[in-house]
Amino acid sequence: MKFFDAHTHFFPDALAGKALPRLSGICGCPYYSDGTRAGSLEKMEGWQEGGRNRFAGMMVFHIATSAHQQEAVNRFAKDSQGGKVFCFGSVFPTAPNALEEMERVKRMGLHGFKFHPDYQGFFIEDPHALPLYAKAQQLGLPVAFHTGWDPYSPQIIHCHPAAVARVAERFPRLAIIAAHMGGMGQPKEAARYLAGRDNVYFDMAFASRFLDAGQFTSLVRAHGADKVLFATDCPWSTVPDELGLLEASGLTEKEKEQVAWKNASRLFHIDI
Ligand SMILES: [Zn+2]
Repeated sequence: MKFFDAHTHFFPDALAGKALPRLSGICGCPYYSDGTRAGSLEKMEGWQEGGRNRFAGMMVFHIATSAHQQEAVNRFAKDSQGGKVFCFGSVFPTAPNALEEMERVKRMGLHGFKFHPDYQGFFIEDPHALPLYAKAQQLGLPVAFHTGWDPYSPQIIHCHPAAVARVAERFPRLAIIAAHMGGMGQPKEAARYLAGRDNVYFDMAFASRFLDAGQFTSLVRAHGADKVLFATDCPWSTVPDELGLLEASGLTEKEKEQVAWKNASRLFHIDI
């Protein structure tokens, strides 16, 4: 099956060797690439399993974890794009120039904005964050939220599916990607608050680690197979693991194809 991986991470070559072990220590999970652009591409190409699957491209999420870092992060994202590599930009929610930086992200040809409320230290309904969603809506670019539980701040859910639902209602023309199937470790809440919402997409990053095939199938069916994106969260999971979950699901071949690449092509305006 052709696949487009809608949620991956890599780092500048000089940082990857340090960043991966540090993040791995925080999340308590192993990593499956060397964390560089070249290493990630090599893995993706290798995961085609002798031609049975076909790697069509990857979306890379970068996260600005401070105000002064955002320009460098977005420059790196822009420089990383090319061939099968596509990137989101990132702004730090309390940066005084966050809105201008969002316009720069659009001009640079990046594909959306990734917010990681745990690593960026905010709740997605914080008043200072709302103008950012209005700006993304105006620019016509999607936002992606790390949704649900996160090992970085395991005692606090910074982005609960119910909060995503309220943001989706407030900004009806904003496409929102609720990563990790609408909520890491929160499939019931994702179904309850988000299923069926027109402007909310789920990505299946890391889903094989917290959903079985039956749970995955019911959540996709509840939400709609036209609004779920295949994703791994590479380097934290792999194509065989996540594509294995999609293949083991009870979805029809047509639905699997929508999830594997067609929805990403439509949402990101990428010819796949
Ligand atoms: Zn991720």
